[in-house]
Amino acid sequence: MPRFGGIASMMRLPVASAPVGLNAAFIGIPLDIGTSHRPGARFGPRQIRAESSLIRPYNMATSAAPFDTLQVADLGDVPINTYSLEKSLAIITAFYEPVLAANCIPLTLGGDHTIALPILRAMATKHGPVALVHVDAHADVNADMFGERIAHGTPFRRAVEEDLLDCHKVFQIGLRGSGYASDDFDWPRQQGFTLVPAHEVWYQSLAPLMAKIRAHIGNTPCYLSFDIDGIDPAYAGGTGTPEIGGLSVPQALEIIRGCHGLNLVGGDLVEVSPAYDTSGNTALLGANLLYEMLCVLPGVTRR
Ligand code: MN
Ligand code: MN
Repeated sequence: MPRFGGIASMMRLPVASAPVGLNAAFIGIPLDIGTSHRPGARFGPRQIRAESSLIRPYNMATSAAPFDTLQVADLGDVPINTYSLEKSLAIITAFYEPVLAANCIPLTLGGDHTIALPILRAMATKHGPVALVHVDAHADVNADMFGERIAHGTPFRRAVEEDLLDCHKVFQIGLRGSGYASDDFDWPRQQGFTLVPAHEVWYQSLAPLMAKIRAHIGNTPCYLSFDIDGIDPAYAGGTGTPEIGGLSVPQALEIIRGCHGLNLVGGDLVEVSPAYDTSGNTALLGANLLYEMLCVLPGVTRR
């Protein structure tokens, strides 16, 4: 079968209906009703899968060979309720709990960033509060949005309130843009988060930063949440809340590859809204970043 043929599962992997026997799985969450600006991330999983068909199994840069040691499949999409965020959150957590119980590491195709909260709820049930590497233009720690406590700009505020995070092991990378007040980023710092604004790392390799993060997080179970808008809209314009002056694609690769050695328990790639990028490049980038996450999971060998 040519790579452009067949059913469009993630990386053309087998589609599985249960996590039993899997070490890792890709899961789509076609949800965008938590979006505040441009919608369309509900179509992210489908487009990411379509653009993933060219990804080959062996990582030429890092020598990672994830399929040598891991059983991996595509578990399909979470059947969210597109009229109810509240119901969708419960559906998502209930979907992830048996995945984690089967010791299967989930890598999620978003969907808007609201989905990080119900995933983290499942993570905390299994692992306790987790460390977090969060790449994003935005801190997503709003107290509320239009009076709503659940939205794509609030998941990490709720996660702190619910004790889902080891706050002194939370790193937010790529933050930027205009705000509502100069103290917008004070609250996460007060919780113990380390913030790395984009302008502080322009033109720089992020490998040294990741070495510091690895040393700081140690063996604590760690979740990787990657909002595609952390990357500059020149490379990833297909997203709902674009901000100029973002991270480069090589920096994104350095962040994910720099997670090698962490005790990663899951990851997501969120906020791909395909309709705003007719080239398909945003979804192509998202697909490859998810592959890079797979390549740094515990148990992956290099040859
Ligand atoms: Mn976000
Ligand atoms: Mn964002």
